[in-house]
Amino acid sequence: MISSITPIQLATIIHADHKIDAPELSISHVGIDSRKLLDGKTTVFFSLRGGQWDGHDFLNNCYRSGVRNFVIAADRAPVSGGDDFEACNFFVVPDTLIALQALAAWNRAQFKGPVVGITGSNGKTIVKEWLGQLLSTAFLTAKSPKSFNSQLGVPLSIFSIAPYHQVAVLEAGISLPGEMERLEKMIRPSVGILTNIGTAHSQHFTGESQKLEEKLTLFNQTDYLIYRKEQGLVAATVERVFPKERLVSWSENLDSDYHLRVKKQAGGSRIFLVKPDLSIRTFHTPFTDEASLENLRHAIVAASVLGMDPQTIELGVQQLRPVDMRLTSKSGRRNCTLIDDTYNNDLAGLEIALDFMQSQRRKKRRILVLSDFPQIKHSEKVYNRVVQLLNHYQVDQLIGIGPAIGSSVAESEVSADFFDSTEEFLASDLIHSFEDAVILIKGGRTFGFERIVHALEEQVHGTVLEINLNALTHNFHFYKQKLPPTTKLMAMVKAAAYGGGATEIANHLQKLKVDYLSVAYSDEGAQLREKGITLPIMVLNVSADNLPQIIQYRLEPVIYSPRILRIFGEHAQNVQETIAIHLDIDSGMRRLGFEPSEVGELTDLLKSYPNLRVQSIFTHLTSTDNAEHDPFTLRQLEVFQEFTAEFTQRLGYRPLVHALNTAGILRFPDHSFDMVRLGIGLYGISVDHLSADKLQQVGTLKTTISQIKELKKDDRIGYNRAGIMPDHGKIATIGLGYADGFDRRFSNGRGYVLINGQKAPVIGNVCMDMTMVNITGIDAKEGDEAIVFGEGIDLPKLASHIGTIPYELLTGISSRVKRVYFLD
Ligand SMILES: *Cc1c(COP(=O)(O)O)cnc(C)c1O
Repeated sequence: MISSITPIQLATIIHADHKIDAPELSISHVGIDSRKLLDGKTTVFFSLRGGQWDGHDFLNNCYRSGVRNFVIAADRAPVSGGDDFEACNFFVVPDTLIALQALAAWNRAQFKGPVVGITGSNGKTIVKEWLGQLLSTAFLTAKSPKSFNSQLGVPLSIFSIAPYHQVAVLEAGISLPGEMERLEKMIRPSVGILTNIGTAHSQHFTGESQKLEEKLTLFNQTDYLIYRKEQGLVAATVERVFPKERLVSWSENLDSDYHLRVKKQAGGSRIFLVKPDLSIRTFHTPFTDEASLENLRHAIVAASVLGMDPQTIELGVQQLRPVDMRLTSKSGRRNCTLIDDTYNNDLAGLEIALDFMQSQRRKKRRILVLSDFPQIKHSEKVYNRVVQLLNHYQVDQLIGIGPAIGSSVAESEVSADFFDSTEEFLASDLIHSFEDAVILIKGGRTFGFERIVHALEEQVHGTVLEINLNALTHNFHFYKQKLPPTTKLMAMVKAAAYGGGATEIANHLQKLKVDYLSVAYSDEGAQLREKGITLPIMVLNVSADNLPQIIQYRLEPVIYSPRILRIFGEHAQNVQETIAIHLDIDSGMRRLGFEPSEVGELTDLLKSYPNLRVQSIFTHLTSTDNAEHDPFTLRQLEVFQEFTAEFTQRLGYRPLVHALNTAGILRFPDHSFDMVRLGIGLYGISVDHLSADKLQQVGTLKTTISQIKELKKDDRIGYNRAGIMPDHGKIATIGLGYADGFDRRFSNGRGYVLINGQKAPVIGNVCMDMTMVNITGIDAKEGDEAIVFGEGIDLPKLASHIGTIPYELLTGISSRVKRVYFLD
């Protein structure tokens, strides 16, 4: 939301050539995504361009949503829409992103309160969140959502600053030289914080100090710049560049403006602020790690500089929780899905969360549990917007909690129930009545909504498989970029998407616009259709029994022999249906498939079954990840190509041709043909050196420590006393065993888990539901997390240790392990 402006004003602000046919319109919203337009009439749509998309392609959709103001790039003007685009205003600029930034800079200039700008290599999002939370106990505070700190994220953050806010906290991040200058023009911080300077993104910068000076441009106009004195390079540089009266330093020593000493103790830390008059204030925090303590002290200093009284800061610091910027969905009772967003409540965040809710698999109902927004004077506008959002995202039921929300939303068309407090809702019958619904739980911290999540959550044992859908997106684009633009991509989601859960992953892939999906069995395909997947689905292993399902759900079977071909051909004819089929050619795998020599028989058969339409022909390569067999792989490709040439000639039309799996895509790029079949790489497992370090792991299997024991040298552990304590030390019993998919071959030191970042080897035999690990020398307590598969664990190496491959480990994760999905 921005302050209302006229089209003429907009043209001036963004320096646009314009064609204004509706000068009377008033503009108060900014849109960049045609699917998320709420109030088209008052929106100006900026046609931005990204790696995979171009906003100019969606102008028609915007028009249909009521948008009449369009910012477009000069190379796409004029827009010729025939009768469409009547009474519209067009603003033509050389670069639409720069225009968006100009509008953001203007919106920023309307705001008269202090603006905190934060940059640095590490910790900026956390400092922003924590400072935002501290400030919001005293002021109406706007802050960037999530880590919106880029050339696009910053303008979007600035549009969420409203006139009623008293202070804004914005984060700035850069990856290329020159970017900070543009961010500075928008943010214009009055108070700056420079967090830790690490080595992130350093490949584009020539040296540490160039990188630092670039970052410092953010603070060109600040009244105060906060920095940590112990960071040598930082201190030396800022003290050289900025006049002393604009600098605010802190450190553990007495040489700085704020002297902040830390004492760690069991269960948390105390931070002492020693004032010049030697009086001391103490802040209690549960955090003990260095990074958190540094970030926290930045936030304390900034809150002090902004005039918050120390007592309020003390109270606020105690309430800070770890920042988890991810939205997670969890299984709830009675077949519900919960989206846990109990951290804070603001409009920008609500929209993001509702969007995430829409991306979840379909349920009968959508329910939003929402708290009051923090004390806002002119709350009417905010709650009106909430109603708009509820309608736009088709929320079926609102549960409003708090004294304000009830009186502000009651008259809307939304079906709603209101409670004065969280306790009242927890005690009601309503909370036990939800069934087959997606429930978004979003509320300010003081409402304690985690209790609602707890009450609604399905109680299962503490082992979870977290699926990071952002990582999936990353891997998808990684492979997509390696392919010629016309080559299609089929994603293998067989075996429950390599263990990750077929429905959610297929749903996400559908949003990424993958071309094809492939499953192993027709049941899996039927299930995807039931959950609303409309992409074409190839089924690898079919039999005659599957025919009704295949036809009912429009699945596309792989036909691999004359026998199966006849069965399907006859049936299709009998029921007068067309079936799209795929032909598997055995070029050397010796598994399923037509022999290349059968080309004549095959085409004759196909001609006698016109109801079978050949959608594709493919072969599967035996050893794409193993250079030793490259001559054989090339031979397979040659056999397949010869077959294809003859086959298409005889068939009379050309189906899609494909051969490559994950390792093949990178190692045999000349053979990508019309399509490739991406499996394990999509899930972030690198099976060839060409993708090493380029993929992001999608699944993280984790559990918790149930108990810790102190043992002596030579103590025996577990079944058959197979484990022997090598020295005096500690072991932890963790809550997963071979029934969860932790292979029993990991027993006796062949496997390990990560606890607080350190390797804890398995000691003794893996049990059915539990495993003991040696944690001697590791700082751990009961309830801590143990990472079983995930970041920091080389899955291919771990697998080869016990004579298997990562595929088996992933697909072996038991269905009793709860899957949790998240998306940043
Ligand atoms: C599983 C499978 C793939 C994918 O293999 P990855 O190595 O996981 O990429 C491709 N083609 C066929 C026929 C498969 O069965």
